[in-house]
Amino acid sequence: MSIVLSNIKKIYQMGDTQVAALAGITLEISAGEFTAIMGPSGSGKSTLMNILGCLDRPTSGSYMLDGEEVATLKDDELAVTRNKKIGFVFQNFNLLPRMSAQQNVALPLVYAGVVKQERDSMAAAALSMVGLADRMHHRPNELSGGQRQRVAIARALVNNPSIIMADEPTGNLDSKSGNEIMEIFTKLNKEGRTIVLVTHEIEIAQFTRRIISFRDGLIISDEALLKV
Ligand code: ADP
Ligand code: ADP
Repeated sequence: MSIVLSNIKKIYQMGDTQVAALAGITLEISAGEFTAIMGPSGSGKSTLMNILGCLDRPTSGSYMLDGEEVATLKDDELAVTRNKKIGFVFQNFNLLPRMSAQQNVALPLVYAGVVKQERDSMAAAALSMVGLADRMHHRPNELSGGQRQRVAIARALVNNPSIIMADEPTGNLDSKSGNEIMEIFTKLNKEGRTIVLVTHEIEIAQFTRRIISFRDGLIISDEALLKV
């Protein structure tokens, strides 16, 4: 079991009022699942993603990640777990403009202390996985939006994380590029990776195998999609 949330609450204090961004979430996501999180603006999706991705801690409740309780870790311990287990993909790609695709993808390995020769070959392998073997030396501004997001996916993969978390990964792409990105996620999921993504678009969510819908900090539906 990869992700087990039990009665997770996140309360923000705003002056003398409290906002329950998450009002008691109980949820299991198994290793190898492909899940979309949907819901209106303000329903708690980003707060959930921040907690799932070990960027933030809940106010209360338990989060077991691969059998480890992470809800109560200290900041430095949380960072270690995050760097080991989670790959992130963002709506705005978050690539460094002066670096090549290969250098962008290799960055998490710099932080992990991997030597250069090994970094270069691991980054090249990750770029091959997303179909960009022939664009390794291009900078982001020499790539299309869809290609930039593929570089960002390669960067998320390069550490071999157990979970990939993507926040509106197709939000800045036209529908053709968006579908290509979802086909890459589908392939990575078939290879056994756990993928959790937030999207506003039902057409994007339908690439996944499970749609969890939020409203007012609570899960209002959790639906398995049957695939033939
Ligand atoms: P979504 O991603 O679905 O738009 P969020 O998780 O960003 O929702 O927000 C859920 C609720 O928590 C909203 O009411 C939002 O205003 C509130 N919220 C989110 N982050 C903060 C914060 N840092 N401080 C105070 N309130 C916050
Ligand atoms: P795709 O359909 O694969 O998303 P495009 O049709 O947008 O790609 O781009 C075709 C080719 O043009 C790409 O291989 C890319 O390298 C190149 N290209 C796209 N945008 C730019 C740009 N702003 N500057 C330089 N090259 C670009």
